[in-house]
Parts: sequence; structure tokens; C-alpha cells
Amino acid sequence: MTLFEKIVAREIPADIVFEDGDCLAFRDISPKAPVHILVVPKRAIPRVAEAVPEDAALLGRLLLTAARIAKSEGISDSGFRLVVNNGGDGGETVTHLHVHLLGGRALGWPPG
Ligand code: AMP
Repeated sequence: MTLFEKIVAREIPADIVFEDGDCLAFRDISPKAPVHILVVPKRAIPRVAEAVPEDAALLGRLLLTAARIAKSEGISDSGFRLVVNNGGDGGETVTHLHVHLLGGRALGWPPG
């Protein structure tokens, strides 16, 4: 079971901000911005590189959910960033696909 599957199963506590049948969103335990929320599929996909065409609708739902949460967090008009880290150089540390929603301050580019 992945760390995020344990959060989905309520075996590990998290500050959950949204849930539906397919997705769960909760605040990152080590926030990198005033708003830093992770949107995860309940069904674990290790990383985006391992997603298959059958996952397309679920991947779309993750993005739409993140955009909806950005609105409810009040950062949609000021701007926000969605990030998917993949593999070692990409900064992936949890092997359960997740979309980072970051906002609430001006974000630098490119990432370091
Ligand atoms: P990544 O580095 O893209 O794999 O992102 C994993 C993220 O999960 C990091 O930003 C961590 O701070 C976050 N994280 C790790 N453990 C937890 C947890 N128990 N609850 C919430 N966020 C977590």
C-alpha cells in the first residue's frame, strides 16, 4: 500500500480538502507555498510515465479537480501552478501519482 493509499484509507491522518469517488485532495505536510495541496487518484498509478490510455479520464479528473480547488482556495484569479514530479530528476519522492497545486504567492520560474 502506498503512503497516499493509506491516507485514502484514513490509516494516516491528513488535512483533506476534497474527496469524490476517484480523487482525494489534502494539504501537503511540508508546504512550499501558502497553498500547497496534493490531488491524488484513489487508484494508485505509480507515476505519470506509467499511466496508460485507459487512465486518460482519471488524469483529466485530477487536473479539473485541482483547478476547482484553486477556485475554492481563492487563488484561481491570482494564479497557481500544477506540478507532476516524475522520477528521480523530476523530484518524485512518493510513488503514487499526484498533482501538486501551489499558489498564494508569486512562484519563480524555472524551478531550481
Ligand atoms: P513528490 O516529491 O512530488 O513525490 O511529492 C510528495 C509530496 O508528498 C511532498 O511534497 C511531501 O511533502 C508530501 N507528503 C509526504 N508525506 C505526506 C503526508 N503524510 N501528508 C501530506 N503530504 C505528504
